[in-house]
Amino acid sequence: MKCPFCFNDDDKVVDSRISKDGRSTKRKRQCNVCGKRFTTLETIISASPLIIKKDGRRESFDKQKLLNGLIKACEKRPVPYRNIEEIVLSVEKWIEETNLKEIKSEEIGKHVLDKLKNLDAISYVRFASVYLSFKDINELYENVSELIKKQS
Ligand SMILES: [Zn+2]
Repeated sequence: MKCPFCFNDDDKVVDSRISKDGRSTKRKRQCNVCGKRFTTLETIISASPLIIKKDGRRESFDKQKLLNGLIKACEKRPVPYRNIEEIVLSVEKWIEETNLKEIKSEEIGKHVLDKLKNLDAISYVRFASVYLSFKDINELYENVSELIKKQS
């Protein structure tokens, strides 16, 4: 890193501090030539987008977590494991292909539900009640009756 004061490329790190979310590091550097201090910010350049959770926290996409959630939603339902796996793979592919830097977890939920509604209505409702977190029973009812209308 070139010193912003004398432009020499000779410095030492005098202090490092990791941000609260752990995604960046601030380093205080001191120029070995002029002795002045400056701060640099180091962040992760991630290839895959981050998932924005409902509470605003960001995390990387967890394939296993989605798989577990789907297995739970499809428990004791006539949904073959192969189909569950296909949904997870299609979501993963969709995330990889999108050029977004961040995706709302809700968007992922909708993508999954789109696939799930053609497979099994009960699993759909189970998954929807977790991922879409309906305000109340009426909202859940509206969602389900819409699904029934589409199917019939
Ligand atoms: Zn300097």
